[in-house]
Amino acid sequence: MAQIIDGKAISAQIKDEVKEEVAKLKEQGCEIALAVIQVGSDPASSVYVRNKKRACEYVGIESVSYEVSEDTTQEELLELVEKCNKDPKIRGILVQLPLPKHMDEDEILLAIDPKKDVDGFHPVSVGNMVIGEDGFLSCTPAGIIQLLKRSNISIEGKECVVVGRSNIVGKPMAMLLLRENGTVTICHSRTKDLKEVCKRADILVVAIGKPKFIDDSYVKDGAVIIDVGIHRNENNKLCGDVDFEKVEPKASAITPVPGGVGPMTIAMLMQNCLESNKLFGEKN
Ligand code: NDP
Repeated sequence: MAQIIDGKAISAQIKDEVKEEVAKLKEQGCEIALAVIQVGSDPASSVYVRNKKRACEYVGIESVSYEVSEDTTQEELLELVEKCNKDPKIRGILVQLPLPKHMDEDEILLAIDPKKDVDGFHPVSVGNMVIGEDGFLSCTPAGIIQLLKRSNISIEGKECVVVGRSNIVGKPMAMLLLRENGTVTICHSRTKDLKEVCKRADILVVAIGKPKFIDDSYVKDGAVIIDVGIHRNENNKLCGDVDFEKVEPKASAITPVPGGVGPMTIAMLMQNCLESNKLFGEKN
């Protein structure tokens, strides 16, 4: 039986640690606020935004909400980001993605002051991560490192295979595993013999966006499996990129969906808001 890596419990632990730190800062007269910007009313985005606001409330970080209409122009959104950049109370700026089609997402993300880039998507944050400088880490991959560490799974010297090379998951994941001294291989849609490469993995991280794509034939006995994917199946039940039922008996540890990687992303966002204060904060 594989160890089930409990993302719900680990994320709750991290949020409690953040809550404690935030309370200490408040005692010193320091308030932290996160600006949450949502353009339009995409239902999935609204759920994510609501969950982020709830997490802020729990840890004691003020969330300053900007809900602007679908037909907001690029210029108007840039002005709003700039206003948040200049507001000393706001320590983190989160622009909920995806943005409406008429907007240039890259330009908006570049406009966020890197000192407030709590999502860790700005090229400055990415650069700092790659060269090992302090800075914001992309939340989902940083959460996965915490899942492994807090489950006592060591990364050093392990064969780590990451399937997926997106800028928000696959690439930063590979970099963070490398920082932890893993031996890292990145796979993508053009990888030859994907199965053979995956079977080398001591730690297999799957972020491809295809329901139940990875079954037991991709997995070495005793491997640790991290499933980043989130999908709803035909019965409206959540599932991941990994076929849990088939893979679990072969793995030594595995994340479930839901309750694995998912809850970690918001916990790490809270951690990044706190970090913004440590990295760049001044008393306000
Ligand atoms: P993207 O669609 O941006 O990237 C998918 C990656 O998988 C690409 O690099 C693609 O390769 C690769 N890929 C696709 N098909 C195959 C295949 N058959 N074989 C090998 N590689 C393949 O997805 P994201 O990284 O944004 O997200 C991945 C999944 O994780 C999604 O299900 C998403 O919902 C979920 N997710 C979950 C989060 C959480 O908090 N738990 C956070 C973010 C995402 P190529 O580059 O060659 O096209």
